Amino acid sequence: MLIPCPHCGPRDVGEFTYGGDATKERPDPGSAGAADWCDYVFQRENLRGTHLEYWHHAQGCRLWLRVRRDTVTHKIEAAEIVGPWAAATVRETGNDEGQDVA
Ligand SMILES: [Zn+2]
Repeated sequence: MLIPCPHCGPRDVGEFTYGGDATKERPDPGSAGAADWCDYVFQRENLRGTHLEYWHHAQGCRLWLRVRRDTVTHKIEAAEIVGPWAAATVRETGNDEGQDVA
């Protein structure tokens, strides 16, 4: 599977570290209890189909990405940089350059 890093271009998934579900909202450290943190860290829905995920380009630019990926076909529909370097735009992939190789 190739992940289209907006900074480096398409790279093999082996260069990345999976960072988890990008749809979960981090609990407020000032008010969240143990149950809130347990849910945030451990509970996953394991969806079938399009999913938002965090990936860290650990062996490349070391940026964190939010990737929209189909969990059935592994086709990546979009990838964007998150965090302090998020000024980069979303990189959409069309049908012609879909990254569907598992
Ligand atoms: Zn990169």
